[in-house]
Amino acid sequence: MNRTLVIIKPDGVQRGLVGEILGRLERRGLHFVAAELRSLDEATAARHYAEHVGRDYYDNLVRFITSGPVMVLVVEGPQDTWRVVRTMMGTTNPLDSAPGTIRGDLATVMAQNLIHGSDSAESALREIEIFFPHLDS
Ligand code: ATP
Ligand code: MG
Repeated sequence: MNRTLVIIKPDGVQRGLVGEILGRLERRGLHFVAAELRSLDEATAARHYAEHVGRDYYDNLVRFITSGPVMVLVVEGPQDTWRVVRTMMGTTNPLDSAPGTIRGDLATVMAQNLIHGSDSAESALREIEIFFPHLDS
């Protein structure tokens, strides 16, 4: 599985960081197979974040991801693309993210950490199906 799902979250779009973030992915050598600016409805957000149901941060998470336009992409690379993107993103909490990573260079707080990337090959398949169900392989 050489594709992964990336979402530039509402904070990234609002801060004008779409170009910066997509540029980093492109310079790394990854390609975009699909890309769309969208506003997520609550049902789509709930499906995407199903594994977080019941967590104390869940309501905030869904409220945030539906709060404004997001850029949704399918990103492709030669191998384990989900892992390449995750490494580029940095840790979930930007307080701990290494410099050189997207979160480590551009974010400061957990709730506004700019980017989502699938966390496994299985998650990538599941999430691509949610956002781009008709995409050709
Ligand atoms: P994402 O799924 O957004 O790419 P991630 O995989 O690094 O991020 P997850 O564990 O999947 O992190 O959590 C999803 C999102 O939920 C995080 O990006 C973060 O904004 C929020 N989140 C996760 N854990 C917490 C927590 N303990 N407190 C507050 N928010 C949290
Ligand atoms: Mg995650």
